[in-house]
Amino acid sequence: MGLNEIIDRVRAAEQAAGRAEGAVELIAVSKVQPDARVEAVLAAGHRVFGENYVQEAQGKWPGWKGRHPGVRLHMIGPLQSNKAKAAVGLFDAIHTLDRMSLARKLVAAIEAHGTAPELFVQINTGDEPQKAGILPDELAGFLEQIRALGLNPQGLMCIPPESGDSTPHFRLLRRLAESEGLPGLSMGMSADFESAIAEGATHIRVGSAIFGARDYSAKG
Ligand SMILES: *Cc1c(COP(=O)(O)O)cnc(C)c1O
Repeated sequence: MGLNEIIDRVRAAEQAAGRAEGAVELIAVSKVQPDARVEAVLAAGHRVFGENYVQEAQGKWPGWKGRHPGVRLHMIGPLQSNKAKAAVGLFDAIHTLDRMSLARKLVAAIEAHGTAPELFVQINTGDEPQKAGILPDELAGFLEQIRALGLNPQGLMCIPPESGDSTPHFRLLRRLAESEGLPGLSMGMSADFESAIAEGATHIRVGSAIFGARDYSAKG
């Protein structure tokens, strides 16, 4: 299990960046992983996890939450509007708010549920046509619209293009968050979390470096 090594690397990166120990929240991304691997990380005391699929998370987390007090779940995958209600019931944070139709569904779900998850607006920093997210130029207007609905986002999230250096994307996300007065920065994955920490990440999403490679064929 790679948890301890990753925690050590997070602490070292915090220190190298002159940031306080524990300034960065390590989200262990457990999507598609075999139960035994997730249980090992729970047994080691880790409590913050990320999932991409509402249905998969609904199947496995209620039981683990019951047995491991203090678990906090982050939704980091694309969220269909018709799953907004289930997501608000299960997740403590949603990192993928990327459109008005979803914002409206979240408002209704939060009202019905009585508590609100922490919200991050996903930004398409690479302006990639196939990728979800608000374009940087459209962020100010989007924030104005969702705040008018009563939503109170805490930060921004990005998934940089697969090839190339992530650092310019992390810098762009940070600049956008600063100009909008948002404290949260969800950025950095297994391959680049240390540079994300250097650029100010408050939340990193690390899957395979903790759990091992994902086998999508196993779970369909
Ligand atoms: C799967 C996923 C991760 C984790 O990726 P690794 O490369 O395994 O660390 C992080 N963020 C998002 C949005 C993901 O979908």
